[in-house]
Amino acid sequence: MDPNTFSQFETQSSDSCEWCAKPLTLIRFKVFQQEFTLRPACECRIRAQEEREKQALLEELRRSMRQQGLEEGLYAHMRLERWKKRDASTKAAAKKLEGYLESVRHGAKNWLYLFGGYGLGKTHLGVSALRCLCLERRWEPLLIRWSEYCSRIQQGWRNANAGSEYDLWCDAINATVLVLDDIDKRASSEWALGKLFELIDHRYLYQLPTVLIANRGIEKLTTFWSGSELMQDLASAIISRILGQLSAVIEFSGSDFRLQA
Ligand SMILES: [Zn+2]
Repeated sequence: MDPNTFSQFETQSSDSCEWCAKPLTLIRFKVFQQEFTLRPACECRIRAQEEREKQALLEELRRSMRQQGLEEGLYAHMRLERWKKRDASTKAAAKKLEGYLESVRHGAKNWLYLFGGYGLGKTHLGVSALRCLCLERRWEPLLIRWSEYCSRIQQGWRNANAGSEYDLWCDAINATVLVLDDIDKRASSEWALGKLFELIDHRYLYQLPTVLIANRGIEKLTTFWSGSELMQDLASAIISRILGQLSAVIEFSGSDFRLQA
């Protein structure tokens, strides 16, 4: 470029930030002999703006959790710090969950499989993971109770006011971090298992963090979902994707603490 056309030089001037009083370096440049001066934004203003954006996003994520009922009733107490380490097994479960969160922080495989009997805290730890990842990584969270989600889709077929299948599907695939609770609570139909496969397949392809909660261990799902040949194929496809993205498995055993005084 012709040096006579454009030249730039920085000057330390007496100009300073009106917020933190730090001196500001003005940038002066000439274009066709005409001089221009740029006054850069002070770092303190840039940091303040970033902080405002971060707080706005956190507020948005908290609103999303409130809308899903995760700040009410029993869900509100489902936090890692409120997990009662009453014995070796509950201590080990908390340690595994921390290990899983650490692995997600390092961008390793990011799926978690929680399984065991009722009332042992699977949902507590699943929701704790959802909350941690949402607030720490600022990821859009979603909790889906699988059989309820399927019922809502089916209601949408009959009732235009219920959420449409497309909207519900978008929620599930757009959530950055998803907890799928009770995936094997009810006997599945071919249709429901096909839906579960679509969801699992999408999240697997895009490597989206997913927490699966079940009553059975992964190896028992094939027998559970073996109603037809199609279901067996779907079950194998679902399981192979789960295993492909799996970071940790936590098994819950013992007796239902909801029944204990
Ligand atoms: Zn400043």
